[in-house]
Amino acid sequence: MKKTKNALVILAGGTGKRFNKKLPKQFNEINGINLIDFFLNRLDTNNFDIILIVIKKSYHRFFEKIKRSFPNKQLIYVEAGKNRQVSSFNALKKLKQYNPNKVLIHDAARPFCSNKLTAKILKHLDKNISAIPYIVSPDRKVISKQDFNKNLKLIQTPQGFDFKTIFKSHFKTKMLNAKDDSVLISKKELSFIKGEKLNVKITYPEDLNYFKLFLKPIYKSGIGYDIHRIDTNTKKGLKLCGVKINFNKLIGHSDADVGIHAICDSIFGALSMKDIGYYFSNKDTKWKNKNSEYFLKFARNKLKEKNFFIVNLDINFICEKPNINKYRKQMISKISSLLKISEKIISIKATTNEKIGFIGDGLGIAAESIVQITNEKI
Ligand code: ZN
Repeated sequence: MKKTKNALVILAGGTGKRFNKKLPKQFNEINGINLIDFFLNRLDTNNFDIILIVIKKSYHRFFEKIKRSFPNKQLIYVEAGKNRQVSSFNALKKLKQYNPNKVLIHDAARPFCSNKLTAKILKHLDKNISAIPYIVSPDRKVISKQDFNKNLKLIQTPQGFDFKTIFKSHFKTKMLNAKDDSVLISKKELSFIKGEKLNVKITYPEDLNYFKLFLKPIYKSGIGYDIHRIDTNTKKGLKLCGVKINFNKLIGHSDADVGIHAICDSIFGALSMKDIGYYFSNKDTKWKNKNSEYFLKFARNKLKEKNFFIVNLDINFICEKPNINKYRKQMISKISSLLKISEKIISIKATTNEKIGFIGDGLGIAAESIVQITNEKI
């Protein structure tokens, strides 16, 4: 049997009390992937013969999910202990049967570690018992006058070890709750290497913003179309994009604001949702004569919920009358305030139907809308 050389342990057993969210931070998803997926996706797994992931039994389902996402990688589950030290030792005990030469022990909370760093750690272990990455912080910790000019050194993971040494150190130690593995080996076995500034630890919810440095922004577009029949028995009561217009009103279950309805559908489309009729059925008396601004606010909240922002909104009316151009500015201002977006990214245009068909005969008003959204704050 081929001797297993390099092993990687990912510690994901923490509950992250400082993270203050329902799920431990390592399982929180950003753009559909969690911290462990993100790390494994970028990792050059050719450098490792075996990867162990330490997770609490109650979160075993996340291990199953990770395993499904990486079917070609040898991933092994290890049950987490009551603290980091116990979890780490549990992994090493499991690893013993594979008899590796080198082991890297990593915290799942540091998903941004590069392949360059893991390769550097493995190389350093060719000639050293350990490879502990650190960075020099520009912040200074003042303990005494002499310490004043000393920069704080921050220790990172993954920490690399000769397997036998770290196993023995765990086995022999009297420490009960070591914060990392490097403190368990003797001082003469410690060997430091330069870590990476971007290999930050996700500790607080706001730390998830670091993902913005690594994730490509998503851009999505949506299209919406709506048409309503003109009520020729009326003389006033038309409402387009929330603006009241002295013209025959449109027939509809709600206030028949064809402009807003088209905008809503384009936003729902961009968010991969269903159409406006699904959320506000014209069979539901609740929406009878409803002010369509309500629907647009609903769409705005969906954008907010899913963390998307409007890049551009283009609306086109198709009608013979009224003269939309007269109300353009007012409509843009209204949509801008309803969606809480800049007027500069809204366009309202109109065209006639050249007297062709029922729109050309002045029987109805149609509107179409195209929106582009992004998850990157502009
Ligand atoms: Zn409609």
